[in-house]
Amino acid sequence: MKIGVLALQGAFAEHIVMLQALGVETAEVRLPDQLADLDGLIIPGGESTTIGKLAVMYNFMEPLRAFAAEKGMWGTCAGMIFMAKEIGTVGTGRDQPLLGIMDIVVERNAFGRQVDSFEADLIVDGFDAPFPAVFIRAPKLVEAKGDARVIVRLEDGTAVAAQQGRWLVTSFHPELTGDGRFHEYFLKMVEDTGE
Ligand code: GLN
Repeated sequence: MKIGVLALQGAFAEHIVMLQALGVETAEVRLPDQLADLDGLIIPGGESTTIGKLAVMYNFMEPLRAFAAEKGMWGTCAGMIFMAKEIGTVGTGRDQPLLGIMDIVVERNAFGRQVDSFEADLIVDGFDAPFPAVFIRAPKLVEAKGDARVIVRLEDGTAVAAQQGRWLVTSFHPELTGDGRFHEYFLKMVEDTGE
């Protein structure tokens, strides 16, 4: 299995380290051609406006949509925003390039200034112990529609991860805590939905 990480901007190196620790072949993806031999792709956290603008500049938009139509894709934080169909009306940045594939509505920077960054132990179905999650100027997953379903929530009910077939989004950064279980979850998804 070979998993790429979109390496235009943001926390791509940390995903690569985690995937390599799990014994997976990896690629830093900087040009659309590099998508060709991948089984799945991670879009990292960072700044979704920058990732979007660079993706347009490097002619990534249609190749990424075509890739997602056939393969697994996982967006973390800014990557989640980029994969969303809709950005809500409260947060910042409603006018930015989006891949627009997941049937979710997100609000950027929606946890507010006081809680710019925070950690939370997440209870995840199928995980035998809580998952330590780091949120950094995280978006809120306001709504999952259609075939998208919320798979993880904070204690107060806020949705923080959703899945739609072979696509996964998390509003937190699972590559920063040294806990590979979400990466394993994604690899399993790619395995199950490939072929
Ligand atoms: N606040 C960033 C954005 O709106 C996301 C932050 C992150 O990816 N950690 O794109």
